[in-house]
Amino acid sequence: MNCQTFRQRLDCLTAKQRAVDVEVASHLDGCSDCRQFLAATDRFDQRVSSVLKTVPMAEDFLDRLLTVVEEDSSAEPLPIAKRIRHSRAFTIVNQLIVTGLAIAVIFAASSLWSPDPVESQFDYAVAKSELTQKFFHITDNNWSDLAAFDYTGFQIGRLDSAVQKWSFSEPVGLDLGNDATHDVVAFQFSYEKSQRLKWSGTLLVLPTEKFNGSPQETLPGSSSGMQILEWQSADGSLTYLCFVEEGSADELAGAMFGNIS
Ligand SMILES: [Zn+2]
Repeated sequence: MNCQTFRQRLDCLTAKQRAVDVEVASHLDGCSDCRQFLAATDRFDQRVSSVLKTVPMAEDFLDRLLTVVEEDSSAEPLPIAKRIRHSRAFTIVNQLIVTGLAIAVIFAASSLWSPDPVESQFDYAVAKSELTQKFFHITDNNWSDLAAFDYTGFQIGRLDSAVQKWSFSEPVGLDLGNDATHDVVAFQFSYEKSQRLKWSGTLLVLPTEKFNGSPQETLPGSSSGMQILEWQSADGSLTYLCFVEEGSADELAGAMFGNIS
């Protein structure tokens, strides 16, 4: 895990999840920059929550929050510190909205802070490599540490009929940016066509519009020898990335095309 993925990951973990996350702990052990970053983030969260406790959504809520954002220059020497604080504040406001506490805030906030455009557009190749590291051969323990999919970042809608025959676990979600909503949903799947033809692994579903450079094919394609399938839903709205742990990815693609019966 590098510093960037570490910092992205912090935003999708609760304090409790963070405390038991082995990868987070081992990165923190070896990286003093990220230890400082985490301390500054926690300090900032505390200051913001103290503002929220003392101000019951007053009209000047946003001004006060922004003041905290601007004033909190004490901690980190990092040149990106200000940007982090802004996106952190945006995350906090988003969380308020998700919990239904401050619907009105978003309209006020949107005129003051536009979300970083990077947050709504990810590079597919970069995301795929991160997701492959995280989900290919994922252990049960690591899976159970993941958050249940939040259904706020995007709608899964209807999965294509080809994958509807598969059996799925409850979905988990992953936040790739820092807007506190999930950008990827993941299922553990299994699919059995016969004694010999059965597959299991992880299916990731991504909203196509959030990713630059995602696969355009609407039929699953595998790189030869790789147990990875990727394709786009028939209507183009979803991108599927499938890690096949058991069974052959090529045969699975064939079974979905209908070439293997
Ligand atoms: Zn680091």
